[in-house]
Amino acid sequence: MRWHQLATDLFAFYDDSCTVYALRYGDCALVVDFATGRWLEHLDEIGVRHVEHVVLTHAHRDQCCGLYRTGLGDWTLHAPAGDRSLLAPEEHEEFWDTYQHNGCPTSYAAPRLSLPEAVYDLHADGEVQLGPVRLCAIATPGHTRGALTYLVEWNGRDVAFCGDALREGGTIHQPYHLEWDHWTGSGALAAWHGLERLSYCHIDMLLPSHGEPIARRTGTTIRETQRRLMGLLRAKGSVCAGAKNRWWTAEDLGFAQRVLPHLYQFGANSFLLLSERGEGLVIDPQRPDIELLAQLMEHLGVERISAATASHYHSDHSDGLNYVRTRWGAAVWLHPWVAEPIRDRDRLEVPWLPAESIEPDRLLPVEGRFRWNEYAFSIRPFPGQTWWHCAFDAEVDGEHVLFSGDNFQPPSRWNGTGGFCAFNGSRFVEGFARSAQEVLAMAPSLICNGHGCIYPFSADQYRRIVRWAAKSEESVRALCPTDDWLSAYDPRALRLDPFVQCARPGQTLEVTAVLTNTSARPVQIALSPIGPTGWKLRAARGNVRLKSGATRRVRIALSLPRTAAAGRHVCSIDVEIDGQLRAEACVALVDVSA
Ligand SMILES: [Zn+2]
Ligand SMILES: [Zn+2]
Repeated sequence: MRWHQLATDLFAFYDDSCTVYALRYGDCALVVDFATGRWLEHLDEIGVRHVEHVVLTHAHRDQCCGLYRTGLGDWTLHAPAGDRSLLAPEEHEEFWDTYQHNGCPTSYAAPRLSLPEAVYDLHADGEVQLGPVRLCAIATPGHTRGALTYLVEWNGRDVAFCGDALREGGTIHQPYHLEWDHWTGSGALAAWHGLERLSYCHIDMLLPSHGEPIARRTGTTIRETQRRLMGLLRAKGSVCAGAKNRWWTAEDLGFAQRVLPHLYQFGANSFLLLSERGEGLVIDPQRPDIELLAQLMEHLGVERISAATASHYHSDHSDGLNYVRTRWGAAVWLHPWVAEPIRDRDRLEVPWLPAESIEPDRLLPVEGRFRWNEYAFSIRPFPGQTWWHCAFDAEVDGEHVLFSGDNFQPPSRWNGTGGFCAFNGSRFVEGFARSAQEVLAMAPSLICNGHGCIYPFSADQYRRIVRWAAKSEESVRALCPTDDWLSAYDPRALRLDPFVQCARPGQTLEVTAVLTNTSARPVQIALSPIGPTGWKLRAARGNVRLKSGATRRVRIALSLPRTAAAGRHVCSIDVEIDGQLRAEACVALVDVSA
């Protein structure tokens, strides 16, 4: 028997991409979440002939992918009204078409295809009667903004289908879904409040989408999850709580600021460093601010920009590089980590990409020195707000100046950092703490960062950042269901490379599955690719064994039919890690030309 009986006429099916619950009445059933639909062929085990209703807790593809894969059943599909934007055909198309236009998308696990048949009759604080089942919905946002928990009194017991609002031990399945933007705790706070509402309800059994049913001390589990969520919220609060705010006063020229006799700040994020030779080095040029640079050059009588570089790949620090090269003939120099996401801007699934790829003329050393005219720079990786970040320092007009992009800001600005989130590749001990230690070791006198953040260095602020990083990593780990926290917190532990590519109908492409084992033990991974109807996808191998910490790449051939429709299509892979299914674990986008 593949179904597990939890109570009278209440069953759970665990062996799918999420747990599927069935409430049975006669030979009919209402099913909560659909997963891939593996459970359909086992319905006879529990005497169900007819599924009348399918109810979704939230619009993640592990909850619903089987609905668009298996085609229509004769059930009614009910979905949370608040998740319509991820499921309804037009909104769904818009979601994928604009996926990388900005920072964090509104979902990290949106369905690959839309569900035109869904009825959006489930509202927070609304009750719906479906057959003998009365669903009382409570908003438990987090995994999605519209996620709902359904309270049902079933044969005298109060059960709560809580989706991914929590799981056993007070943890959260893939807590990065709570990072609704790249820096604030708004998603964590909303999730906390949803649980606050749940904590006042009488619940005999909590039935989460992942992990074990919770039949005892349900209130304690809710409170424990809230406590851990508060830890995440505090981590988002400030990286240097209590540090003194310090700012450097630069001379305002109206269209730019004179920081030092040879160093000017212009626009949102950019700097111009002057050489005695009369030429300039531009740091972090942003396209909308380029006319300010032209004005500044005219003001200073500078005619030549010989080099340009960026502290990190984000568009507001890099998207002027190509333009500076074209207009003034500047050579683009990039740190290898910074170059990685933008040499081919379609390769990685990351936020805030520039609209065009940027090919460097010269790669700077990962760690070491470089010269520009009379200036001797030291450079190193500087992960924090994003992994793909560097920092460089040099002596300028008697000050030891560090250019460090979006790590870190004075305490009053953006919590002292450009924020952390998993989608941006933020890490704590390996990232923020490592970078803050570098600054402590070099002890610069002046920090020149993006967004006008120019301030004198203080060791106290950076020591606080090191302590914050250790504590915050603990808080995030505590929310993860297993010790292998990165499998729950790294959205790219399984990914497809490149993320976006263009194709013509009839063409065969290649995409590579990049699989990383973040756990401490070896794992066996089975994979099978999935694409739009009529496309042929074939993996070079279906099984890989991965040692702890290892990464392996598996090629997938992707053949488009001649009839492939123009527009954007979403491909994916189903992955089984040691027998545990993760349906449509990651996606790649293919733009088919007409
Ligand atoms: Zn989810
Ligand atoms: Zn940034």
